[in-house]
Amino acid sequence: METQTQTVQQRVFRQRHSANPPGKRIVYWMQQAQRVAYNPALDYAISKAVETALPLQVYFFLSNAIPDATAQHYRFMLEGLAETGRELQKLNIPLHIAVADDGKIPEAPFKDAACLVMDHGYLDWQKRWRDEVYATCEQSGCSIVEIDTEATVPVHLASPKEEYSAATLRRKILPLLNDFLLADPVKMEVRKTQLPSVKLATEHSGSFEDSKNLWDWAAIELKLPAETGPGYAIQGSHSEALYELDSFIRAKLKDYATMRNHPNLDIQSNMSAYLHFGQISPIEIMHRVLEHTGTPPQAIPNMIADKNRLTGMAQSIGAYAEELIIRRELAMNFCHYNPAYENSNSLPQWARQSLNDHLGDPRETDYSLDRLELGETEDIYWNAAQKQLLHSGKMHNYMRMYWGKRLLAWCPGVDEAYQILAYLNNKYELDGRDANGWAGIAWCFGKHDRPWATRPIYGMVRFMNAGGLNRKFDMEAYLKQWSKE
Ligand SMILES: Cc1cc2nc3c(=O)[nH]c(=O)nc-3n(C[C@H](O)[C@H](O)[C@H](O)COP(=O)(O)OP(=O)(O)OC[C@H]3O[C@@H](n4cnc5c(N)ncnc54)[C@H](O)[C@@H]3O)c2cc1C
Repeated sequence: METQTQTVQQRVFRQRHSANPPGKRIVYWMQQAQRVAYNPALDYAISKAVETALPLQVYFFLSNAIPDATAQHYRFMLEGLAETGRELQKLNIPLHIAVADDGKIPEAPFKDAACLVMDHGYLDWQKRWRDEVYATCEQSGCSIVEIDTEATVPVHLASPKEEYSAATLRRKILPLLNDFLLADPVKMEVRKTQLPSVKLATEHSGSFEDSKNLWDWAAIELKLPAETGPGYAIQGSHSEALYELDSFIRAKLKDYATMRNHPNLDIQSNMSAYLHFGQISPIEIMHRVLEHTGTPPQAIPNMIADKNRLTGMAQSIGAYAEELIIRRELAMNFCHYNPAYENSNSLPQWARQSLNDHLGDPRETDYSLDRLELGETEDIYWNAAQKQLLHSGKMHNYMRMYWGKRLLAWCPGVDEAYQILAYLNNKYELDGRDANGWAGIAWCFGKHDRPWATRPIYGMVRFMNAGGLNRKFDMEAYLKQWSKE
């Protein structure tokens, strides 16, 4: 069995070691992995603090310059961070939450660090932040380590290039999976020290006992608008994620392979928002699935590879691991290696060419953004999906595909459809602004898919229509649930 120390080394995305670092503390800049459990960057920082007998301090920076983040997104994140603050306190590790004005990360906490540990981010704005902090630390001579905390198999290790499809990435991930699913967690204690942390002027000084306290402070500091629309059904935090996961494993997992696509049923795990904010690790999710079902971790690669030949619980575990590991990490691979992921230049050549060949085909209608946002088109299923999103903060996975593809029939071209879909997805999905979102949007227009028979407007891009929804699912029940005013 691999130890976690070995796999943490494999998780290192980049590092720079200084022989005589000047600093007095170990700093973990927490950004993507907003949790204590199953957090390899935190584990690494703890091991450094133990090895050097220096105190460990954790910093988290809030910014109002994060693309598309709404008050609802902040609320969910802060609920999680308050719990993380309490969990860190139990380990004698202080969490400092401060404001990065206009997205500028203060240099002070890093300047006299002996070692800075950061978790990795896959999106452009996350990479820019890390590059800036990396450069600051290089100048001050401290050691720096950046660790991939969110993928089961680190993205840079799984593949050195953009993958064409789930099939090509699956072939690369499966042989590596056991090393990372089998890693033994290392438990270490950090000694309490009297050395003061670097206090920042914009820092939250209240307690983490109640997340409302943190929210009230952040709302003023970041000048957040009041939350509009209905409150979303789920709350943020690692413990909430575990509660939701437990009910999925007990009541729904067995039907996941056969029933998850039915839009009127909720045969899904609802882990996406927790994963997006790094409140739970995919490895912890898989460990809990394995534990509950008595499945040995070594069986997972075959369950993924053979999921279409299996039945019952084994098939469902294979199907779930396919989504959680292969599809999710294909999305990370896409954002990591494709610099155009935010627009239609990211699409494969065959898809762009084929869509452009059909630019002159007459469109059905041209809806204003307002009418789309309110779910007021002539397509009752599209409207219901949009209202599910507005009222719950989460559209069913199957409807996301239909919803995205339908836009092509209403927009002058794929460039506009890509932008409108990104706007709606990132504003309203609680799990939005994620690598999965960008890959899902691109998939609607041909990414990670193959050419299909040519048809108007869509060219060779896979088409979905209302007839297909009616044939396969109880759409009357879905309409009843979501056709609200
Ligand atoms: C147009 C479009 C937009 C999307 N936008 C987002 C988004 O903004 N954020 C987001 O997290 N997902 C997005 N997805 C992917 C998928 O719809 C969601 O991950 C899923 O519905 C989340 O629900 P769940 O956690 O209950 O999923 P489950 O079915 O329980 O799956 C478990 C986990 O597997 C991963 N997963 C499941 N389906 C996919 C998929 N198709 N691609 C990649 N990973 C997957 C997710 O991390 C998910 O939480 C989008 C898909 C499309 C087609």
